[in-house]
Amino acid sequence: MSGDKTSLCALGLDLGGAGLKGGIVNSEGKLLEGKHLPSPVHDQPEQIADVLAKLLRDLAEEAQAQGWEVVGAGVSSTLDVDPQSGCFLPPHFAHLEGWQGYPIAQYLQDAIDLPVLVENDGPMCAWGEYLVGAGRDYNSLVMVTLGSGVGGGVILEGKRLPDTLGRAAYFGHLCIDQHGLACPCGRRGCWEMYVSATALERRAAEAVAAALHPTRLDKRPTAQQIVAMAQQGDALACRLLVEHAGFLAVGLTDLANLFAPPLIVIGGGLSQAGELLLAPAREQMNALRLPICPKIAVVASQLPFEAGLLGAALLALERFGGVYVRNAKQS
Ligand SMILES: [Zn+2]
Repeated sequence: MSGDKTSLCALGLDLGGAGLKGGIVNSEGKLLEGKHLPSPVHDQPEQIADVLAKLLRDLAEEAQAQGWEVVGAGVSSTLDVDPQSGCFLPPHFAHLEGWQGYPIAQYLQDAIDLPVLVENDGPMCAWGEYLVGAGRDYNSLVMVTLGSGVGGGVILEGKRLPDTLGRAAYFGHLCIDQHGLACPCGRRGCWEMYVSATALERRAAEAVAAALHPTRLDKRPTAQQIVAMAQQGDALACRLLVEHAGFLAVGLTDLANLFAPPLIVIGGGLSQAGELLLAPAREQMNALRLPICPKIAVVASQLPFEAGLLGAALLALERFGGVYVRNAKQS
């Protein structure tokens, strides 16, 4: 490896429920090339690994053709993974043979002949936001991702939780009502059952069916449509987001009381609702929480589509190339 680190780059992948993204990230933290593919849906981990390996090989070739020196790759995974061993954990909600212990990191490493790390997407989104997104001027933050499920990550004084705690920060399974809705994890009243995009869609379908308010929402609206309609002033869509904000505030208050973070970043698809969702959630959280720290900012992700990919690639760049990128305003 040459002494000039400006020519170094890392590859990043984001294996999400809604798609597979890949990109090349340079030593300034810039995403140079992005590729989007449909999410690989397969029963066996080998098949998913093959799709990821092919995308990594393509990206590595492209990076090398552009004159970059690739130090390795980072993968942000919605499928649970043990970051210490780089192996898949058993899926929460399905009983699939062959998943637990599948060495995804090692497989990819062998396939592209470069070092590869694989981590859970919540912590990787938090790391991406911390380095080059909404958290770049803060030393600590809590990240909450609102998608089909609810994930999270914690950065304290510039440090990620250690890999030995890589299974921590499953904020979606904070209990907000022990007699509440049954969660596939086996408990009742998990936060995810109330604040995920899926939960919003479920409540919206019920509200449309009840027909108490005139609305332009479909019978089974997607979260995206609910947000779009709320932005256009649809009364029911607005009401649904305010109700959603109430559930969001309950869990955010717990996180505020647990960590007293200066910043909470809301990511995932629902962060697109912006202030329509965040303003009432912020107001209620600040009214409910203990006055343990003077001010907690609650903001939407600045990298709604790339936080996980960037977090994983920048971690790979640091771990395998010795390049730490942080685009704080002061630098
Ligand atoms: Zn649960």
